[in-house]
Amino acid sequence: MIPYSTQDIDTSDIQAVTKSLRSGWLTQGPAVETFEKAIAEKVSQKYAVAFNSGTAALHAAYFAAGINKGDEVIVPALTFAATANAALYLGAKPIFADSLQTGNMDPDSAEKKISKKTKAIIPVDYTGRPADMRAFQKLARKYKLVLIEDAAQSLGADYHGKPVGQHADMTMFSFHPVKSITTGEGGIIVTNNKKYDILLRLFRSHGITKDPNLFIPQEKTEVKAGWYQEMQMLGFNYRMPDMCAALGTSQLKRLDTFIAKRRAAAELYHKLLADIPNLILPHPESSYEKSAWHLYAIRLAPSIAHKRDEVFAKLREEGIGAQVHHIPVYTHPYYKKLGYKKGLCPHTEAFVSSEISIPLFAKITPKQQKFIAETLRNIIANI
Ligand SMILES: *Cc1c(COP(=O)(O)O)cnc(C)c1O
Repeated sequence: MIPYSTQDIDTSDIQAVTKSLRSGWLTQGPAVETFEKAIAEKVSQKYAVAFNSGTAALHAAYFAAGINKGDEVIVPALTFAATANAALYLGAKPIFADSLQTGNMDPDSAEKKISKKTKAIIPVDYTGRPADMRAFQKLARKYKLVLIEDAAQSLGADYHGKPVGQHADMTMFSFHPVKSITTGEGGIIVTNNKKYDILLRLFRSHGITKDPNLFIPQEKTEVKAGWYQEMQMLGFNYRMPDMCAALGTSQLKRLDTFIAKRRAAAELYHKLLADIPNLILPHPESSYEKSAWHLYAIRLAPSIAHKRDEVFAKLREEGIGAQVHHIPVYTHPYYKKLGYKKGLCPHTEAFVSSEISIPLFAKITPKQQKFIAETLRNIIANI
């Protein structure tokens, strides 16, 4: 089976992890800080805080943004469930906005869903294409919302000539093996805000700090010995282990190569698939956006969209690990139980019901891509 995505691990990655294992530090060692600094530098942000998953990182960012019981947050319906789940962890309510033809959140739909209870807005860079962050920055200013970019899929993408990671109050990258680079499991928040950096670090490690500068003043009046640490709030253990961070630092050196290879593969697909009838290719990139090409999401034209599952099954039969990204979050059984109804975001529902992601990853070969394109051509000609 050709997977829809997979990691690219080479001997330099293996050496980096081996070295980390031999260093004596499995967790809470220097490799995490090295990785954080490297990511912060890559996207020119002051702070980066690493977590043991992108989901944990989102949970921490929502916490740092002050999202609380009874608050609302605006998230796209077209995303992985984790974007919305992180609001539920904090007792807040995800409010779903509809999507554009690109698959990204529609700023107009998002604005219509803003209420007095809205605390934050969280655009997602669907398939690695940056969301319309200028529009969301405007909304955040106008309604005094915290802007958090779920860039799980878009490390290495550019928006208006600047890397993703510079366009929100906090930006999350995921390092799951299918994403731009991997740490096995892992995620990170980048920000320029020192207050967020402090809260993210506390939240990551039980709400406990060992930093004397952060001790609560009345506790500080007693002379504390070097062993002293204090728990100031209820946090979690969301720390990234050192060997994962070492893998991340090694992978990051090849990020630009990975993205260039993904881009070249996407361009080859544009050519190979262009003349297949009833196939809708990914919306072309605008001049100001450079996708990280996390996914190659194709859609079936309305006349054959009802055959999507048949096309999907036939691709799988031929050993092509197609996938569908993503079920509109509110149509999951858990969300239905919470009271969300079908029909909430009609554009997203239509988009997803015709969508198939075909394999795209850094080390896919032109031969594999030609096989995928020809198989797809034959399937569509015969349904
Ligand atoms: C992958 C992903 C996440 C979750 O990241 P993990 O590292 O797997 O926890 C969140 N949001 C989006 C859009 C994703 O694609």
